[in-house]
Amino acid sequence: MTDRATALTRTLIDNLRARTADDAAWLDAVESIAQDVLTVEKADPDFAAARVLERLAEPDRVIAFRVTWRDDAGAVQINRGWRVQQSNLLGPYKGGLRWHPDTTLPVLKSLAFEQVFKNALTGLPLGGAKGGADFDPRGRSPGEIERFAMAFMAELAPHIGPHRDVPAGDMGVGGRELGLLSRAWMNHAHAWGGALTGKPLCIGGSLLRAEATGYGLIFFLGAMLAASGDDIEGKRIALSGRGNVALHAARKARAMGGHVISLSARAGVWHAPDGFSDEALDWLAEATGDTAFSPPKRLGLSFQAGRKPWDLEPEIALPCATQNEIDADDARALIDGGCRYLAEGANMPLTPEAKAALAGAGIISAPGKASNAGGVAVSGLEMRQNAGFAHWSAARVEEKLREIMCAIHDRVAEEGRSAANGTPDYRKGANRAAYRRLAQAVIEGGAL
Ligand code: GLU
Repeated sequence: MTDRATALTRTLIDNLRARTADDAAWLDAVESIAQDVLTVEKADPDFAAARVLERLAEPDRVIAFRVTWRDDAGAVQINRGWRVQQSNLLGPYKGGLRWHPDTTLPVLKSLAFEQVFKNALTGLPLGGAKGGADFDPRGRSPGEIERFAMAFMAELAPHIGPHRDVPAGDMGVGGRELGLLSRAWMNHAHAWGGALTGKPLCIGGSLLRAEATGYGLIFFLGAMLAASGDDIEGKRIALSGRGNVALHAARKARAMGGHVISLSARAGVWHAPDGFSDEALDWLAEATGDTAFSPPKRLGLSFQAGRKPWDLEPEIALPCATQNEIDADDARALIDGGCRYLAEGANMPLTPEAKAALAGAGIISAPGKASNAGGVAVSGLEMRQNAGFAHWSAARVEEKLREIMCAIHDRVAEEGRSAANGTPDYRKGANRAAYRRLAQAVIEGGAL
């Protein structure tokens, strides 16, 4: 080959290699659940003979596709798209779509595997899936997002449907994108129907879907505190993030009498020593760009650049920002500051080292697959409304959400109490409770 051919080939191969990951993320996810459930499996001859966990770890199928679209400059762009249909034992495949440049198949496989367990805990007829693309929507124009959405759905549409697979949003995919994707699916299927959840209200979305994860987190927290003879009233709560989950959790925590002392972004922390007022929450929800870093004095709020919320001595910690946001040092800061409860609003916000540190320190700590299941639970309620051609009131959705979160809590706490002889181990409890429901379904349906 000529030098030029070699150089060009190298660039192309390096490009492909950079987007090809090994299976580590998926194996980690399987390992962390295996530790909690394999003893349950071995204790039941039927579960053991059916090799339930190994079966659940393998996706039913993976759909992988190319998404080719044109940017505003007219250049051809090529992305990778996937849908991991992990398990439909309990209901249609269900889980979000993520558009983020770091998206790889092993990451989606690990999230789909987790989603199966989360969805099982809701008690609703929901299987588990996850999907997305290595597309970065940041900085893209509305026209580019629309063209990408159309090209993405042209590939995905034949594989989804209200009884088959019902995607929702996740990172980079919100209400607007779900509106575009829904329209594209309807054009493909020549049908109206709830093939996606998290849709805009006017095309069949549910009231409170946007609030669901944050509200659900606080309902779960309320049940967790009640189980320890405690309540939210007057507690100092450190929240991280300032997105959908964090802001709605903050509002509900405040409505239940908690003092929300922080919210955060990558750049730092908004600290409200006496707790956020409604006015301060409204202001932060609306503030854009650098104005967000200079709160008006009357709000009782300061912005502290480069800081995290975990050394503010909260009694309750609610990580609602992103994966791995709490490391071992943050965990130690929480312990030293007297934190007693933690519940995850984000998916997998604790590093393994942070998890180990917290477990040893007696902090009661709930995993996201239980405490942030409110989002997917209201997706389940959206599917129910679509199937019945109905729109429920916000009050009805909220009441159902509260019931579901309390039922998840009770299921997980009961399993977690028998796993730990005393204070419930919510992490073990969540994995075991979900496993039992899934294993039963494997057996009842015939192990193959
Ligand atoms: N992506 C969200 C989750 O992790 C929602 C999934 C859904 O509503 O299907 O639970």
